[in-house]
Amino acid sequence: MQKHKLLINGAWVDPSTHAWFESVNPFTAQPWAMVPRAAKEDVDKAVAAAKAAFYSPAWRGMTASARGALLVKFADLVAQEAERLATIESTDNGKLLAEMRGQLNYIPQWFRYYGGLADKIEGRVIPIDKPGVFNFTREEPVGVVAAITPWNSPLMLATWKLAPALAAGCTIVWKPSEYSSVSAFAFGELFEKAGFPPGVVNIITGFGNEVGGPLIDHPDVAKIAFTGGDKTGEHVYQAAARGIKHVTLELGGKSANIVFDDATMDEAVKGVVSGIFAATGQTCIAGSRALIHRPIHDQFVEKLLTLAKTAKMGNPLEAATQVGPVTTRPQYEKVLDYIRIAKDEGAVCRLGGNPATRPECGAGWFVEPTIFTGVNPAMRIANEEVFGPVLSMIPFDDEEDAIRIANDTVFGLAAGVWTQSIRRALTMSERLEAGTVWVNTYRAVSYMSPFGGYKRSGIGRENGAEAIYEYLQTKSVWIDIAGNAPNPFVMR
Ligand code: NDP
Repeated sequence: MQKHKLLINGAWVDPSTHAWFESVNPFTAQPWAMVPRAAKEDVDKAVAAAKAAFYSPAWRGMTASARGALLVKFADLVAQEAERLATIESTDNGKLLAEMRGQLNYIPQWFRYYGGLADKIEGRVIPIDKPGVFNFTREEPVGVVAAITPWNSPLMLATWKLAPALAAGCTIVWKPSEYSSVSAFAFGELFEKAGFPPGVVNIITGFGNEVGGPLIDHPDVAKIAFTGGDKTGEHVYQAAARGIKHVTLELGGKSANIVFDDATMDEAVKGVVSGIFAATGQTCIAGSRALIHRPIHDQFVEKLLTLAKTAKMGNPLEAATQVGPVTTRPQYEKVLDYIRIAKDEGAVCRLGGNPATRPECGAGWFVEPTIFTGVNPAMRIANEEVFGPVLSMIPFDDEEDAIRIANDTVFGLAAGVWTQSIRRALTMSERLEAGTVWVNTYRAVSYMSPFGGYKRSGIGRENGAEAIYEYLQTKSVWIDIAGNAPNPFVMR
């Protein structure tokens, strides 16, 4: 098993603890790599390196165009290595190779997009209302960014932070999830190969409380960019408040996928399946509540069951597999707990509802794709994020009812609407409290389109031109051009 190292100040180093932990392949349930167990001392070194790099002539003195070119060079390297990176991700977190391959082939676009944006961030000349003064603004990088990422799409979610942060001129200390750190090391090698100056990107691995905690509390971290669960997000937000740090939080959801009786039913059935069973339901945007117009409810359920039953479970590295294992043992247990809770609360289990013990699932942590009908919006299964292949089906009577149920959640990350009516599509997309609304599609994301949550789903936006401003701060510069000193005792 390969024993990995931390990337601090451009060097691959052992953790100060001289301790490693095993990364486990969720399909075989066997360890396959050794990940450094960093501690506060390593956090301090990494932040010091990032701070020094932030002020270094090599980085601070680099033109925005040259910085952009570095990002584009990195994009090309990722594109060349996409297959290898995808295989590492799939082995480490159990998501389908087909899905990870898609993500890895797409990730270079983020670096190209933000590389292109790097030298297009301009200040403004303000036609100021005071004679004899020239006023303009500059957009400046916030400083050292702590990027904390989860296990479900490790490189993709890191990219959403790293690409705009680097384009803005920030430096990074990145802590990937303890469950899916291995691809980060491969990414680190490519940052080096692209020629980023030492200390611009630092990678430290370990546990949330031992590494993430000291990192978010470090006084020299200016900004925290976090994706993960809402409880951890709360903790991160409190740390940001203590240190008055910039923060973006992407915290998951309980997204409603709403099907009206005028929808093209076969398309909507596929959309609901993709919303909840793709990626084994382990996505922040999972459409975990299917709201179905009452006149078509029963017919829709039958069609959905027919399609969902065909989902092929098995080795995520095999091309034919459609549903892989759950990534972590605790997550597997959490999903099964929620299934038990749903049954106890009286939801009707129409599909799955158990660990999957088919031979093709081997020793992996598999849960059968599970569908509950008779779900009452008050049930826990309809309110809490399961993060697994578990769908709650809820009937509704009309648009008003659909809006009421869909918005009756603490979350607000995404929503789907299936209808042929333009009026309905526009009305629903306006009234749904969610950062993303898909109409007649689901699970589409792009580097070009802003992404983020309403309510407890998060703060700030990733992707799109908006995201780079999350890593910039505005300075207002005033220059006297009149040359006559005004009365010093009066505000100018
Ligand atoms: P967490 O929110 O605990 O983990 C996300 C990241 O935060 C990981 O890198 C984690 O490190 C780190 N972290 C944990 N504790 C701290 C801390 N005290 N200070 C700083 N960083 C910390 O997610 P989990 O992996 O535990 O999953 C829990 C639930 O979160 C899931 O069941 C799911 O509901 C939700 N989730 C949502 C995601 C999304 O995309 N929005 C992604 C993943 C999970 P470490 O891994 O070492 O604990």
